[in-house]
Amino acid sequence: MASRQLLKALNRSSILNAIKAYGPIARADIARVTRLSPAAVTQLTEGLIQDGLIFEKQEGDSRGGRRPILLALNDTDTYVVGVKLAETQATLALTDLNADILARHRIQLTALDPATVCDELADGIQALLRLAQVEQRHILGVGVGLAGIVDSAAGICRLSPYNGWRDVPLADLLAERLNSPVYLDNDVNTLTLVERLYGPGQHVRDFLVLTIGRGVGMGMVANGQVYRGTRGSGGEFGHVVVDTDGFLCACGNRGCLETFVADPWLVRRATINGLDVATPEALLEAAQAGNPVARHVFQDAGRVFGQSIANLINLFNPALIIVSGEGVRAGDYLFPAMREAMQRHTFGQLIEDVEMRIEPLSDDTWARGAASLVLGRIFAPSLNEQPIPVR
Ligand SMILES: [Zn+2]
Repeated sequence: MASRQLLKALNRSSILNAIKAYGPIARADIARVTRLSPAAVTQLTEGLIQDGLIFEKQEGDSRGGRRPILLALNDTDTYVVGVKLAETQATLALTDLNADILARHRIQLTALDPATVCDELADGIQALLRLAQVEQRHILGVGVGLAGIVDSAAGICRLSPYNGWRDVPLADLLAERLNSPVYLDNDVNTLTLVERLYGPGQHVRDFLVLTIGRGVGMGMVANGQVYRGTRGSGGEFGHVVVDTDGFLCACGNRGCLETFVADPWLVRRATINGLDVATPEALLEAAQAGNPVARHVFQDAGRVFGQSIANLINLFNPALIIVSGEGVRAGDYLFPAMREAMQRHTFGQLIEDVEMRIEPLSDDTWARGAASLVLGRIFAPSLNEQPIPVR
């Protein structure tokens, strides 16, 4: 973004954020809250009204004189679509400008190739809009979150291990079919964005989001910005090496954190120790029934996870760590050992700065995260500054 455009986008977003926080609110009050000139507020709010993001409401204090014209977020006919894409299914949600879900739709995907996936996503989005009785022209954009390495600025999925994709221009492929802007990001980054815009991450500048489940993911916010790394590939927390002699990970290295903590590996470790379970759910049931092997597997995983989190705390000194993902359901067996290891291995007093939050994760959260890819561009454009391309 050119700096003038960015400045305008930032001013627009600070007005929008003031309306989101205090609206319905008068233009004069917006100028006071944002410290922008009344002329700038008048000009920018005009654009926001034309774009359908806000609207004028005539109400409020009428003690003598005329009633002031107030501005409010247009949450009745401006919407966003969020898509959480997995390999065999996708969860679609329609949200308002507060990322509140108004309608949802789940589709099964019949093939893995990008063209078919985009055809089916486009059909699914049309079905969602019909369901919600919303016309396409009221949609600001579509956000898509998926696992893997994603170049968010270019809208390209660089690597999707589950779908076997390399360098797929998914945002363009889908935008062609939809006639709407499409934004793409790694799914854990989308969760991080929703925490930054609407969750506890609103109130801190430095925080981490960790997900456990089928894999281990991480989103980072440093200095208020989502941190992605040089190629947008940062945050591969699941592949920090814990034991160089450990199991061979799918990435080709040995003893990655995932091989201790991710669901398939928990099942495998239980099986090796003589417990006949096929799924993470069965393993959890065994632990709940008091099976010592199952409990030991979770305890071990918690210990290694906690050690690795201590390393993160030592590196980042975050104010907040949010642990989320499907794996959180086994928290009763995982987290006591995790907390103990964190306490033991964190440097000095750093542990005292960290608030830990455990957040069970639903499909809704993923879909809200995906919607935040669009909302982030409106409310916090600086979060989406284009990284410098590297060749
Ligand atoms: Zn690995």
